[in-house]
Amino acid sequence: MTRTIPGIHHVTAISGPPQPNVDFYTKILGQKLVKKTVNFDAPDTYHLYYGDAGGSPGTILTFFPFADAGPGRAGPGMASAYAYTTTDLDAWMTRLAGEAIDFEGPFERFGDRVIVLRDPDGAPVEIVEGAGETGGFHSVTLWERDPEPTAKLLTGIFGYEEQGVEKTDGIERLRFSAPGGAKGSVVDLIRSDAPSIGRQGAGSIHHVAFRAETNDIQLEWREKVAEAGHNVTPVIDRQYFNAIYFREPGGVLFEIATDPPGFAVDEPQAELGKSLKLPPQYEGMRDRIERVLPPLEVA
Ligand code: ZN
Repeated sequence: MTRTIPGIHHVTAISGPPQPNVDFYTKILGQKLVKKTVNFDAPDTYHLYYGDAGGSPGTILTFFPFADAGPGRAGPGMASAYAYTTTDLDAWMTRLAGEAIDFEGPFERFGDRVIVLRDPDGAPVEIVEGAGETGGFHSVTLWERDPEPTAKLLTGIFGYEEQGVEKTDGIERLRFSAPGGAKGSVVDLIRSDAPSIGRQGAGSIHHVAFRAETNDIQLEWREKVAEAGHNVTPVIDRQYFNAIYFREPGGVLFEIATDPPGFAVDEPQAELGKSLKLPPQYEGMRDRIERVLPPLEVA
């Protein structure tokens, strides 16, 4: 049997100051802060991970919060939205309205109702009503000048299936999904000729990570991606998963991340996200790191 990618592992974005970010994703969106650690490449900034109670792949949204980040903007060659699934969009709309949180919609997309709200940095968070697995991602949207080479990567290498095309307001949306219907199994590509240039900053998505179930499977993917001519990094230890990175043909940074070892590798499941966790290489600098990181209150 040909191997396929089961879906999204995590999405990583950039935010401004961390406290409004924590408040929005935990209180408004009901996500759990499952890991409070630092940017492994710049340990004076946080790396925050949100997800379901166990931090399951397909539910993880991560942020690099920079207090002084300039505003980001999605454009061609960037991921432009992430979507969560719900079975009851009306309950969401009632609750958001009750808390005076603005949202757009509902509108219909591939037969499902969708609303869009903005996080404190303006990142578009979509909520899609669907019958599939809840409590995690539905999809990511990638903005492409020419979606064809990306579509070929998704179908030819990842094993995704074409679900069709929709056109609204001059924007073409091509939908692909991983067979099996796991969390985050949908990828939408939007084709837009708008003369727009995106930039990374607060509210923009930095990369999209897809799942590999084991370390061995990740090595198989690495080989396949390299054989297809993509310049892929060696395996990098990210403490909670192993990662490889490459740019897809349209320019979006893709990662393939392993399910193991997961977020309970350095603290018990019941304690996830409660204390600052540092990888071994930074443990000796803990005092200094804790002094420079802003205090965070997690309800
Ligand atoms: Zn990542």
